[in-house]
Amino acid sequence: MNLKGQTKLPIPAPRQVDPEVLAHEIVERLTYRIGKNAAAAKPHDWLHAVILAIRDRVIDAWIISTQKTYEEEGRRVYYLSLEFLIGRLMRDAASNMEMLDDMQAALASLGVDIDIIAALEPDAALGNGGLGRLAACFMESMATVDVPAYGYGIRYVNGMFRQEISDGWQVELPENWLAHGNPWEFERREASYEIGFGGRVDPAEGEDAGPHQMRWRPAERVIATPYDTPIAGWRGKRVNTLRLWEAQPIDPILLDKFNAGDHLGALAESNRAESLTRVLYPADSSAAGQELRLRQEYFFSSASLQDIVRRHIQYFGSILTLPDKAAIQLNDTHPAVAVAELMRILLDDHGVDFAEAWDITRRTFSYTNHTLLPEALESWPVPLFERLLPRHMQIVYAINSKLLGEARKSGQFTDSAIGAISLIDEGGDRRVRMGNLAFAGSHSVNGVSALHTDLMKVTVFADLHKLYPTRINNKTNGVTFRRWLMQCNPGLTGLIREAIGDRFLDDPEALRDLDAFADDSGFQEKFVAVKRANKAALSDLLRKRVNARIDPAALFDIQIKRIHEYKRQLLNIVEAVSLYDQIRSHPEKDWVPRVKLFGGKAASSYHNAKLIIKLAGDVARAVNHDPAVQGLLKLQFVPNYNVSMAEVMIPAADLSEQISTAGMEASGTGNMKFAVNGALTIGTLDGANVEMRDHVGEDNIVIFGLTAQEVNDRRAQGYVPREVIGQSRELGQALDAIASGVFSPDDPDRYKGLVQGIYDHDWFMVAADFDSYSAAQRQVDALWLDQPLWAKKAIHNVARMGWFSSDRTIREYAADIWKITP
Ligand SMILES: *Cc1c(COP(=O)(O)O)cnc(C)c1O
Repeated sequence: MNLKGQTKLPIPAPRQVDPEVLAHEIVERLTYRIGKNAAAAKPHDWLHAVILAIRDRVIDAWIISTQKTYEEEGRRVYYLSLEFLIGRLMRDAASNMEMLDDMQAALASLGVDIDIIAALEPDAALGNGGLGRLAACFMESMATVDVPAYGYGIRYVNGMFRQEISDGWQVELPENWLAHGNPWEFERREASYEIGFGGRVDPAEGEDAGPHQMRWRPAERVIATPYDTPIAGWRGKRVNTLRLWEAQPIDPILLDKFNAGDHLGALAESNRAESLTRVLYPADSSAAGQELRLRQEYFFSSASLQDIVRRHIQYFGSILTLPDKAAIQLNDTHPAVAVAELMRILLDDHGVDFAEAWDITRRTFSYTNHTLLPEALESWPVPLFERLLPRHMQIVYAINSKLLGEARKSGQFTDSAIGAISLIDEGGDRRVRMGNLAFAGSHSVNGVSALHTDLMKVTVFADLHKLYPTRINNKTNGVTFRRWLMQCNPGLTGLIREAIGDRFLDDPEALRDLDAFADDSGFQEKFVAVKRANKAALSDLLRKRVNARIDPAALFDIQIKRIHEYKRQLLNIVEAVSLYDQIRSHPEKDWVPRVKLFGGKAASSYHNAKLIIKLAGDVARAVNHDPAVQGLLKLQFVPNYNVSMAEVMIPAADLSEQISTAGMEASGTGNMKFAVNGALTIGTLDGANVEMRDHVGEDNIVIFGLTAQEVNDRRAQGYVPREVIGQSRELGQALDAIASGVFSPDDPDRYKGLVQGIYDHDWFMVAADFDSYSAAQRQVDALWLDQPLWAKKAIHNVARMGWFSSDRTIREYAADIWKITP
């Protein structure tokens, strides 16, 4: 033991990795940890034993990573996110520990098929979509580029719902991902904290209590208990910790109630605590205005901050040096209440004066903005905030008075600009603006693509940006190539290694060397063969899952992402209806056989999104049964889109649909995954598509539609969709067919309202972009007919996407925001 209570353990000796040793280890785990012999073992038992064998090696590396003392490491990163969309971990961990091939051989020697047991691992879906997946990619990249980091979040019992399609409609079912236990996690009861809610605030007692020092007496308390999951980086160099909190009732109170005979009261209390971390809010790009959501946000922010501060003080004695050792990144505003919580800890628990507390807070936090959509900007009614967090309400007011004081003193703001800077929205019912709180409490505020960052400066944060002109910066998103190329597409990975060697495995930018093969017809053939095999695999899966017959020779045109009007699945479906009409009218033309695949979940309360899913199914039924377009056009909605489904669909795509209304998609990361797997993109100049065009070259991407500026101008001029529809025969026909019930004879009025919305206001500019989109699709058709040219462009996409690795993104965060040199 050293003085700080840390035991230096002997560093584990490296284990041997070969199939024979591994097979022995698996059988040993099966016998002694699961208690079965090989003959009696079920597939789930094998999976469990394999994970334990991989996990032991991850733990070896974890121990080495955490042996580096705090002093040696300098600053650590704490990534606070209400969502981590992890997916399966077995293949990821085995691959990063460089034991995947040996594991496969070991299992084969035991008569077990690795693919069969891998498919049994639950897909950990503790997130809705892109934001949560980004957090998962970042965890892996931080470990890979050697950034010491903790991820903090919530261990939801029920993560993202499982989507079934019944009669074409989305049905939401609970996904019990913990049903078979979770061998990756470790419960750490000794690191539990109390979290308070409600109650009252009294002035602090004692002679040296400062004027800002208060004592909060919460009326309600729950316990936050952490579960740690080790996250291994590439080649197992570093293993970081993902710490997820679970809410538990405080036992003594329960015991008292039980002893006093109030069994129902005790149960209610217990349920109330546990319900805190039961469900993930199924909302993407919409603010979930529920008390439980605010409770979740405070619960995990407070637990994480208590943990960070406890650890800091244990090592360094004083909270005043916190910013030198801790960089806390807020993934969107969901953890923004952490700004007020750190202030409370500094002011009330440590007696720091207000000015210094505010300085420490701002040097510690940084904030990532993920959306400009007004309906997605979080704010909480003041009465609710005050009732749940009375002390934090006072602190928000105190910060606000300082902030508005600074703004007024600068002399550059009108009253309405001061109103926009305020942490309190005074229009209508008074609300606490979490975006403004996060902005004010951070030294860095970043957007997630160049375009999104530029727009941030002139929209939501225009006035705050004027007050603090150096705070906003850009960090374009990325994805981890380990999962999104090497693991999900072993065929392509093998082909690339054959061509350019292994350097790209460690340096994604080295994919550039593949440019030299874009024109090589031998390489093109192999490239097309790999794509074809991936398409056949997807086709097989869809036959099993939804009984679809899909010809792998067709062009696979894929749009998979959350269903949202701004993402414009509707534009894609309307174009499909128009194409269907054109094929029937002109059967003599040389049509390209095309399969349009859709996938994605709709928020359960989002009526139009659910209707769009139904429409995709209705159009699919009509088109797929019409002999006139047999072999030329097919549509299929793929149920329950999640990380595991993405891993099969993306490597099989020829065409990637990234067609959001310009200015509305902050970055997108699906767009990046497709391109690095050799799909061509059809897309608008939105989010990271803009930078993708710059990297892959404008000849290798199909861009259409209004720019963000043009969307703005059109709206300002008074956009009249009815006129646009009047000028496009194809669009008018397609819309009218949908509205008149051609695709919904069982309920002819089903889509009247949806289509009427396009005629009346068309918020998402479907009509404005239709002709341009349709022309771009015909350009895609023409290109498909020249297969070598298509292959060449696809190869250029793979070669030039290296910059979109999340390793690059993390290095930028480390250098510019966290000031860490890994
Ligand atoms: C990458 C990913 C997303 C984000 O997709 P976008 O097209 O960027 O919206 C959402 N869900 C899953 C499962 C993903 O893997």
